[in-house]
This record gives sequence, structure tokens and C-alpha cells, in this order.
Amino acid sequence: MLAAGAELPARPAATTAALVRLVDLGAAVWEPSAATCAGPARSTSTAAVAASEAETRREDEVERSRLDMMRRYAEHTGCRRSFLLSYFGQAYPGPCGNCDNDLAATTEEPALEPFAVGERVTSERWGEGTVQRYDGDQLTVLFDEHGYRDLLVPLVVERQLLRRA
Ligand SMILES: [Zn+2]
Repeated sequence: MLAAGAELPARPAATTAALVRLVDLGAAVWEPSAATCAGPARSTSTAAVAASEAETRREDEVERSRLDMMRRYAEHTGCRRSFLLSYFGQAYPGPCGNCDNDLAATTEEPALEPFAVGERVTSERWGEGTVQRYDGDQLTVLFDEHGYRDLLVPLVVERQLLRRA
């Protein structure tokens, strides 16, 4: 247990780690001669630590967004190929019929599909459109005047967002 008021002994190590990190990033040059051997001036090491911490925060943010995307991929209930391709900016509606989710979907009880694909529907908000496809619990409709809209099937049913046109 730490005594009250005890100082954390990590400061010199943190400074060294920060400098190594800056060298890695090309922001600092490692010179084993002169000044570095004597130890960097206090203001220099403080700036180095601050710069390194900012870089660490940026990396953390990128890493978090990657993890978030991986989590979403893991929890994705629709076509995984479609998910991945859209992640890389490619449009692929799917389903591919080959990924685990698609294969499971064909063996499980069919998802709720209140309208047939190709059926004309009308919405108070977007007017008339045509049902394009289902993906898990999502329904895509191409509205004549508003383009594609992805709607959650349970919501469509519960709030009667669509009617047959
Ligand atoms: Zn698939």
C-alpha cells in the first residue's frame, strides 16, 4: 500500500520513454554525446513528454475506433462480406450467401419480412417507393423521390411506417 503523499517514482522512466517514442517518430534525434548524456533540460523533457502524450492520445483514438469497428463486425447480424466491403468504401448490398451469418439465416426461421422484395410501398415521410432488400432486421426501400432508405423492420411494423401502395 502506498503511504499518503508518497511520490510516484515513474517520472524519469516516463521521460525516457517519451524521448524514445519521439526518436521512433523521427521527431527527435538520439545523440549519445554532450547534452543528452548530461540529461536534457527540464523544459525540453517536459515538452517532449507533452508532445508524446498528444501523439499517444491520437493513437488511442485511432485504436479505439478500430476496436469499435471490430466490435461492430463481431456483433453484425447481416452479411459479413457486405459489412467488410462497406468498411473499405465499396458498395456491396449482399447477402453473399457464404458467410456464417448468411448461412445461419438460411437455416434459422425466416426473418420478419412484412413486404415482398419488389413490392410498392408508401411512407408518410418519403412517399412511394419499392422494397429493395432485407438484411437481417433491416429493410432497404428505394423511394421515388428520396432515394434509398434503410429502415428497421421491427420499427416499420410497430409504427406502421410503410403501407402497401
Ligand atoms: Zn454474407
